[in-house]
Amino acid sequence: MEAQKFNPLEIRTNHPGLWRYSDALPVDFSDAITLGEGFTPSLYLKIGGRHVYIKQEQLFPTGSYKDRGATILMSDAHKKRVKHVVQDSSGNAGCAIAAYAAKAKISCDIYVPEDTSAAKLAQIQMYGANLIKVAGNREKTAEMALLAAQKSYYASHCYNPLFLEGTKTFAYEICEQLNWKVPDVVVLPAGNGTLLLGAYIGFKHLLESHVISKLPKLVAIQAENCAPLYHAWKNKLTSIPIIDTHPTLAEGIAIAKPYKGLDMIDVVHQTNGLFLTVSENEILTTLQDCCRNGYYIEPTSAATIAGLIKAYAYLEAETWVSLFSGHGLKSTEKMLAILANH
Ligand SMILES: *Cc1c(COP(=O)(O)O)cnc(C)c1O
Repeated sequence: MEAQKFNPLEIRTNHPGLWRYSDALPVDFSDAITLGEGFTPSLYLKIGGRHVYIKQEQLFPTGSYKDRGATILMSDAHKKRVKHVVQDSSGNAGCAIAAYAAKAKISCDIYVPEDTSAAKLAQIQMYGANLIKVAGNREKTAEMALLAAQKSYYASHCYNPLFLEGTKTFAYEICEQLNWKVPDVVVLPAGNGTLLLGAYIGFKHLLESHVISKLPKLVAIQAENCAPLYHAWKNKLTSIPIIDTHPTLAEGIAIAKPYKGLDMIDVVHQTNGLFLTVSENEILTTLQDCCRNGYYIEPTSAATIAGLIKAYAYLEAETWVSLFSGHGLKSTEKMLAILANH
């Protein structure tokens, strides 16, 4: 199906949040399951000695940008009269699907690895979702959910393409908030790539609609302790290697086997971007710095900002955009541990 051209004159400023782009979305606003998500502020901040636009994606109803995908996915499920969904997540996507399922009165089972942070587990359960803790890692969790999904609707942020139809609005918002100027570089987290791939779809749509004149370079950030994509990209591999992983503060991007890994490398190539890794110490000092400037963000979010600061040395560019991806209130135990140790 040929996508309709994006027309800035068709923006519905009377719709809440990201639903202002309903003409470019696969679900009508009249069918929206919405909690008022999106159109997050873009703040012009000085970070690492340079001014950059930082999208405040920690300010979503459930505390992370996953709401972009969840609102579209669950609106579609509601419209199709789906009664029950299953999903697996290392935390934030589970929170988002659980919240929109609650709003839509759809029951859901959320599979999580047993080491998921307590705040996220509580949030998922308070929304009324059925929480299933899987003994094992993130991959084992996905396996269990896939099995269950053979008998019900799989509301996966990784597999279901409707999720990216939501996250693509991140690109629309960036360009609209810059008065339809395209930034030179966008620095993003790279775990399963739901934001990276969605943002690419959005920018590409704007380019093909002649709203912008080029794609921004996409810079994808991984934690040094779990960086399969960085290794594949750097060594020009044609498959994603099995790598040694170590625990990281950036739990949200600790994905050892990203299902769409090759697509993620491809979109970074398409934009002449790059992959970078950040160390645990860089994540920690960046987190402390952000918090001490008033931005209470998840440790995972600090990995992206640490990567942004690193990226300055690699690319000559004028307009930079990045984001705070998740809220600090998601990670109270980690914050307490940091306070106790430093
Ligand atoms: C999901 C998430 C990410 C990484 O997103 P991927 O889609 O796995 O690449 C980064 N930060 C936060 C807070 C997240 O919830």
